[in-house]
Amino acid sequence: MNRECGITTIDESEIPENWRAAALSKVEMPSKDEPHRLPGCYYRDSDFCFLDDMSEGDYVDLTMNPERFTGYAGDSAHRIWKSIYEENCFGISEFDTLGAFNTQGGLPRGPAAASESECLEQRVYYKIISGLHASISTHICNEDFNQSTGEWGPNLQCFVDRIAAYPERLRYIYFNTVLLLRAVSRIGPYLSAYDYCGDGSHDGDAFTLEKLKNVISTAQNVGKFDETVLFRGDKAEVLKEEFKQHFRNVSRIMDCVGCDKCRLWGKIQTSGVGTALKILFELDESALDPAVNHNLLSRSEVVALINTLHRFAESLHAVNNFRRMWQEAEKSK
Ligand code: FAD
Repeated sequence: MNRECGITTIDESEIPENWRAAALSKVEMPSKDEPHRLPGCYYRDSDFCFLDDMSEGDYVDLTMNPERFTGYAGDSAHRIWKSIYEENCFGISEFDTLGAFNTQGGLPRGPAAASESECLEQRVYYKIISGLHASISTHICNEDFNQSTGEWGPNLQCFVDRIAAYPERLRYIYFNTVLLLRAVSRIGPYLSAYDYCGDGSHDGDAFTLEKLKNVISTAQNVGKFDETVLFRGDKAEVLKEEFKQHFRNVSRIMDCVGCDKCRLWGKIQTSGVGTALKILFELDESALDPAVNHNLLSRSEVVALINTLHRFAESLHAVNNFRRMWQEAEKSK
């Protein structure tokens, strides 16, 4: 019902032919009943997210629908966040090799939320969600609507109240960024060889491809996330399945967000982080070879991965702006 929640869609005629529903539905997709086998024994059930059916839906130019303040708030928004945090309740609480579990998921749990008594994977789940929440809040504060002036712009007090007062939330934005960078770095050769135009020409837009090359090389120098310390030990597979299940549930919960634009960005970012998790935890080096597995990721996974990294990078850029605003406000006191 809120005007800011609306999405600007575009007509199919404006879309390159290879990306239209008809062309996409020609792409060989796995049957819903059978797991899709990728060369090297990788199955679509390795996904950390439920992917929507690409044959129906609207076309959206993301640049025309910026993630910003929409006015979506109150009980509905709180219930969604609460449900997402409650997915942090891992059932294998007697998982003795990893120590005691705190099975009290949920929110609000305050600054010490990712408690040391929880297993590493449970803490990682919390950091991912809290970091995503913090990044979304940063965008809301960075592009806030000032009711009295009628103008859009950064709102320092909003950022202080939602992020700066809880330093661990900022740390979790960095945590997600590093996780995404590590995934992009790992899949660099695949992304470089990816057929972006969908016509096999690999021509693409030279400017975009050059930018992508820069992102991949930055990711290779920055990514310090060490995925090898997770999902180890006797019950690693059980724990991984459970983690995956929880994360998939988040993608389902996103369907209930009662604001179209918030849902759009919520789903993209869940899918982007889910794709990063899949790249880090499900695929070994041979699967990542673009010559062997050119269909390893769906187009929407590639789009979600890159756009989610962009969202987090923009959040960190906004954080720097807020720091400057804070210092200037302090000076002028
Ligand atoms: P909320 O952000 O709703 O948080 C609720 C409670 O969670 C807080 O009181 C606090 O105790 C706890 N909390 C807050 N942040 C964190 C954190 N980082 N880690 C741990 N705990 C935390 N609104 C828009 O204007 N634009 C959008 O694009 C948008 N996208 C959204 C996407 C999704 C998926 C959802 C669920 C909501 C979205 N919203 C959006 C709504 C927005 O996130 C807030 O819910 C809304 O602005 C109300 O904020 P709030 O201050 O009441 O606290």
